[in-house]
Parts: sequence; C-alpha cells; structure tokens
Amino acid sequence: MTGHAIVIGGGIGGLAAAVALRRTGWQVNVLERVSAFAEVGAGLSQSPNAMRALAALGLGEQGPRQVSMPTWATHTMRLPSGRHLMRAPAQGDPPLRAFRRSALHRLLRQALPEDVVRTGIEVTGLTQDAEKVTITHTADRQEADLVIGADGIHSVTRRLLWPHAPGPRFLGYTAWLGLADTPIAVSGSMTMGRGRYFLIHPVAPGQVYWALGTAADQPGVRFDDELEQVRRRIDGWHDPIATLLKATPPEQVRHIDIHDLPDLPSFTSGRVALLGDAAHAMSPDRGQGAGQSIEDAVVLAAALATHGTVPEALTAYDAQRRPRTQTTARNARQAGSQVIHAGPVAHILTALALRLTPSALWERLAPRALGPLWDWVPPTLPDGAAPK
Ligand SMILES: Cc1cc2nc3c(=O)[nH]c(=O)nc-3n(C[C@H](O)[C@H](O)[C@H](O)COP(=O)(O)OP(=O)(O)OC[C@H]3O[C@@H](n4cnc5c(N)ncnc54)[C@H](O)[C@@H]3O)c2cc1C
Repeated sequence: MTGHAIVIGGGIGGLAAAVALRRTGWQVNVLERVSAFAEVGAGLSQSPNAMRALAALGLGEQGPRQVSMPTWATHTMRLPSGRHLMRAPAQGDPPLRAFRRSALHRLLRQALPEDVVRTGIEVTGLTQDAEKVTITHTADRQEADLVIGADGIHSVTRRLLWPHAPGPRFLGYTAWLGLADTPIAVSGSMTMGRGRYFLIHPVAPGQVYWALGTAADQPGVRFDDELEQVRRRIDGWHDPIATLLKATPPEQVRHIDIHDLPDLPSFTSGRVALLGDAAHAMSPDRGQGAGQSIEDAVVLAAALATHGTVPEALTAYDAQRRPRTQTTARNARQAGSQVIHAGPVAHILTALALRLTPSALWERLAPRALGPLWDWVPPTLPDGAAPK
C-alpha cells in the first residue's frame, strides 16, 4: 500500500522515516519547526543493529561508514587515574561506529529530494477520521493518509493523542557533550569515576566527541562557562581528557539534562504513529536512542508495504516496536543509574569486577548481554519507485 504521509519533525528519526517510506513508494513531506538545521551538536555511536537499519534504508554500507569512525569505547574502560579496567583487543574491528550528529543527519537529508523537508513549520493541531488525518501548522492545514509524529521527547503529536500520558521523567543526571578539534589519535574509551563517567569517541579525522555524565539534583541548572564546569568536575583525570577539553571550542559544548519517557500504552492511534524519541525517549546509556528510531522507520515502512490498510500496518508496527524499545529504555535507565547513582562501595565493587574479569571472558560475556540488542536484523524493504 502507498499514499501520502506527513512526518512531523526532521530529526534523525523523522528523516529516516521519510527515506524508508519513499523507498517503498510513498509520497512524503517532512515538517520541521526550526528554520535551519544547526551544525552544532556533538556525536553519537551506532551499534551493529543501527548500522544494519541504516543499510536497509538504501544508503549503502559505504555511505554511513564514510562519515563515521570505528570506536572501541565499549571495550576500553579506565579509572580517572588512567588505570585500565578493561582493554580493547589488539586486533579485530570494533562493533561500534561513531558519527558527528550533524554528519548522520546530513547523510539522511541528502537521501531526500530538497522539497521533501519544509523547515520553519510548527505543527500545532491534529484530527483524524477513518479516511484521513488533518494537521494544522503555522503555515496552513494539510491532509494525509498517514501522519508520523517524530517530534522528539516533548512531542506535540503525543500530547494531542495521549493527553493523559505522563511526560518525560528526569533521571537525576546531567551531561555535557563536546566536539574537540584535535589531531591526537584516540580509539574510543569510557572512564568511570564515582557518580560520573567520561566518554570519548573519534568521529572524524581530527575530531573527537566527548561526553561527561554526572549526577544532578535538579534539571535546568545552567552556567555562564559550561566548559569550566566540565573541567572542575574531572580535574586531574587521565590524559588526554584535559587536552580534549582545551581543544574544544566553547560553542561546540552542549549541556543536556537526561530524561526518558515512561512506557506508553501504544505507539499508534488510527492513522497516526509515534516514532523515535516521541515514542520511547531513553537515557543514552545503551547508545540506542537514534538507532532505535532508525529501526522504527524501517519496520514501519515494511509494515505499510505488507498490510492492506494503514491502521492494520500501524497495529503491526506497534506490536513489533513497543516491546523492544521499552525493554531497551528500561535497560538503559538501569545501566545509567548503576554508574551515576552508585555509592562508594558499589563503585569499588563494579571497578573490581571489571578489573578481575579476564578479557577473554569479557569477550564471551558482552555479546551475550548485548546480543538481543545488537543482533537485530531489519526486514527487507521492497524497493518501490520513490515518487518524484
Ligand atoms: C547525551 C545524549 C547522548 C546520546 N547518545 C546517543 C548515541 O550514542 N547513540 C544513539 O543512537 N542515540 C543517542 N542519543 C539519543 C538520540 O540523540 C535520540 O534518540 C535521537 O536523536 C532522537 O531522534 P528523533 O528524531 O526521534 O528526535 P529529535 O532529534 O528530538 O528530533 C525531533 C525534531 O522534531 C522537531 N519538532 C518538535 N516539535 C515539532 C513540531 N510541533 N512541529 C514540527 N517539528 C517539530 C524538532 O525541532 C526536532 O528537529 C543520545 C541522547 C543524548 C541526550
């Protein structure tokens, strides 16, 4: 089945949905609130499941790989002193790829004709009947056979459809993200202090993404000099952390309070589907939010291609995506809490356990823990001709 779809929100999830739907023959418009996409905005890692989902979008193996770097951050753990708790194997390919967020976003944008994405349009209302969905936005009203709410954690689509669903929940932690311009070579690592971590990913030649996560009593606290706040919290931590901070332009630092979304009873209603953070915003501790939104996009397009009506296809999408994404969100919340909210004893025990686990055993255990998440295989999208 094909038709006309409107995607609300031009983030990674919304653009992935537009690419997937066009690939299966749908006519798509993306409506995005901001008037221009910013180049600022750190990085993210994509695990094998997300890389397979990107490949299913038809961007090819090479497209995503060309704009990302391999990173060993899941296999290299250190203490603030620099002592290794776990070392990456000397050989082999790391499972993760790290991207500048803007590079991944641009890759998806480039897979769409220019007139598909309309910026500077904020959606404010939505009604539907059995035949169509009507949305109201700052420029006009529009009708479509299908509407996808990919409008992020504070989704208007979600609030309109489920006015009584609980909103985002603060997880008691805050994060600074930065992009350092530096020629120093890093292979990716995670440093674990008590109640805080420092993550490093290479994202492009001469560019390194870093993130500091730390406990916070309340959201919304901001500082005149955010970089200085990062320095204070990890003063004396091992090389090359101070060097990376020095090489980070202040305008490339973002400060984000970490929230997730309590489980929704459904991701769909009639002809409207939620996707990405709008449906299942999660803490970053499994590195999965964007990857899950790309998986959503592929599964949604495949369901629409194999069912006779939009509501039937959306029911199938909900059945496939809700359990997986809500389990991932729960695991991510627990993983983050174990580091951020660890007491002194728990911190020492975790570090000891990591240190005493031989690399060979870790190599066997890690796939078992992450297997169900990383082994996901996307459905094959029928290659319908994308409409002009
Ligand atoms: C610190 C941190 C680290 C992370 N690290 C990773 C990682 O390593 N790997 C990973 O996979 N994920 C990671 N994530 C998660 C990832 O960033 C998100 O899950 C992903 O970007 C969500 O994409 P989205 O398109 O669903 O939402 P968004 O990126 O929020 O996009 C929503 C879009 O909708 C637009 N919009 C909102 N309202 C309206 C409206 N009314 N009308 C029109 N447009 C509207 C917004 O302007 C925005 O462009 C991380 C998140 C954080 C906070």
